Amino acid sequence: MAPSGYRGRFAPSPTGPLHFGSLVTALASWLEARSANGCWLVRIEDLDPLREPPEATGQILRSLESHGLHSDEPIRFQSDRHAAYQHAIQQLLAQGNAYRCRCSRKQLQANQGRHPNHCRNQPHAVVQEEHAIRFALNSGQRIWQDQLLGRQCQQVEAELDDPVLLRKEGFFAYQLAVVVDDIDQGITHVVRGSDLLAMTAQQEQIYQALGAPPPQWLHIPVITNAQGQKLSKQSHAPALDDQQPVANLMNALYALGQAPGRNLARARVNDILDWAVAHWQRGSLPLTSRQAHGITDQTL
Ligand code: GLU
Repeated sequence: MAPSGYRGRFAPSPTGPLHFGSLVTALASWLEARSANGCWLVRIEDLDPLREPPEATGQILRSLESHGLHSDEPIRFQSDRHAAYQHAIQQLLAQGNAYRCRCSRKQLQANQGRHPNHCRNQPHAVVQEEHAIRFALNSGQRIWQDQLLGRQCQQVEAELDDPVLLRKEGFFAYQLAVVVDDIDQGITHVVRGSDLLAMTAQQEQIYQALGAPPPQWLHIPVITNAQGQKLSKQSHAPALDDQQPVANLMNALYALGQAPGRNLARARVNDILDWAVAHWQRGSLPLTSRQAHGITDQTL
């Protein structure tokens, strides 16, 4: 079959090894891409060396490999992409879509999010002291369609919500880099956790300012621990056991509402993935968060 124009991706920030929740997201984006006969890419969003243990990227890539999830193109590292982000910032500044902001977090908090230095109103001011660069949002309701959750209507508040593009410490921020790379890599479909749902309206405005159409979005519910917290490094989610890829994939499929027969638990990684592509039912995806504990209990 000829490849379709679908281009999806999995874009982890390497703040720690993959955990069960990130496997579920990776698998969902892989299955959406494969079932559309599309291309699936891996991108490491290594923007913040202070939060990223040096071994995490290698751990993530080994985990993906051992679960049979291979990138169709060479893996992209955002740490190699600073020139592109700088270029986008120059463009946004020149267009008046971004501004230099020297307000501290404390000052912003004390002013209910308004900028006491009125940075937004002086986009072309030359600022000598340490400053961040922020995107200048337009206020208003943004309506967009999620492929799982349906119509979304998000309110965006100019100034109060203006996302940072370049941090004071000199690191490029997620909101900028994710859009620049999704545009550059021709990503047509983004499948990611619903913890990023609230970012979407802002990201759509950044796409627009950079002159590109946004992708199709699909936000899957995040996997939580027994306390209802998203599995993450902060909630001390355990690393995936790469020696158990079959059990992990079976559990991830259950978490995605799919129904692999128990006999598959004795199959090989590739057989499970083949089964999952052939039987992928987006309509069976759960709409709300699920507890990892409940899911991993029902297996094998
Ligand atoms: N790097 C982001 C994260 O690990 C995900 C980016 C995205 O999928 O938009 O949370």
